[in-house]
Amino acid sequence: MLRSVFLAAASSTRLGRLMTSAPISGFVGRFVAGPETEDALRVARRLADDGLTVTVEHLSEEPVTAERAVDTRDEYVRLLSRLAGVGLAPAAEVSLKLSALGQQIDEKLTAEYARTICAAAAQAGAAVTLDAEDHTTTDSALEILAELRKDFPATGVALQAHLRRTESDCRELATAGSRVRLCKGAYAEPESVAFQSALDVDKAFVRCLNILMSGEGYPMVATHDPRLIAIAEDRARWFDRSSDEFEFQLLYGVRPEEQARLAAGGGVVRVYLPYGAQWYGYLMRRLAESPAGVLRPAWQS
Ligand SMILES: Cc1cc2nc3c(=O)[nH]c(=O)nc-3n(C[C@H](O)[C@H](O)[C@H](O)COP(=O)(O)OP(=O)(O)OC[C@H]3O[C@@H](n4cnc5c(N)ncnc54)[C@H](O)[C@@H]3O)c2cc1C
Repeated sequence: MLRSVFLAAASSTRLGRLMTSAPISGFVGRFVAGPETEDALRVARRLADDGLTVTVEHLSEEPVTAERAVDTRDEYVRLLSRLAGVGLAPAAEVSLKLSALGQQIDEKLTAEYARTICAAAAQAGAAVTLDAEDHTTTDSALEILAELRKDFPATGVALQAHLRRTESDCRELATAGSRVRLCKGAYAEPESVAFQSALDVDKAFVRCLNILMSGEGYPMVATHDPRLIAIAEDRARWFDRSSDEFEFQLLYGVRPEEQARLAAGGGVVRVYLPYGAQWYGYLMRRLAESPAGVLRPAWQS
């Protein structure tokens, strides 16, 4: 019930405009750095001081148009130059949605823009990870990734355990130098392509984790799920991975005590840090995903 209310709210342009016209409140600020590039840098600095690393995501305006795709490209280039300028790169990386670069409008141009961003990242000494979006975009994203990795081998990609194809994608990508973020998957997908029950998704996550942890790449384990985090820690020991040979990733504002605990244990913990004026849809989708978790006060996370 709450989930559908938040999903409906996420797609309401009028509500979104109204909300984002006000300054970012304390509650929103728990999950989003702020509207400006400088907000992302400020929060990234604070997290770095706490022993955490970040992957910064610019929340782009929707619907995506050819002009907005150019704006998004330029904002990422600016962000990467600022991350380097304030000494946060190379520890920081950026997360990128190919859809925000116009993947649905012109795939070739999207690949070109992504290349410009990867070049800016390489110059900053940082890396780029391509977010996973709905299953209709996966083939195109993996093709673009393969091209980008020829010149920018540090470019990573997110894979969604709930998609039936992902075990096979993990096998393909568990190669030397390959950075793969494993998450459960945030998009509602049909039964034909995705596991539907939470249990099946969790089991698929563990199968994918086994492939990535036993492979030669660099696994990035993106979950807040305590059981999956414990299994990942166990697999890292089992496959003899040292703490710098994989990392955990959690969303900014979600389970901050767990982020601190993992970092205190010597592991690499990367916080997914969104910023931008378009924070409204992002926050509503997080609320839809885990109303109890997000609405829970920070001290109980
Ligand atoms: C860094 C990162 C990057 C991501 N990138 C992508 C992407 O590119 N594409 C994509 O589709 N999805 C992405 N996701 C989202 C992901 O696919 C899931 O939708 C989302 O993370 C929720 O799944 P979960 O694994 O955290 O576990 P859930 O199934 O949401 O939660 C499992 C358990 O975790 C605990 N928990 C969860 N949230 C909280 C909370 N707020 N407070 C306390 N306990 C909590 C509870 O015990 C809960 O029962 C990303 C997630 C992260 C963390």
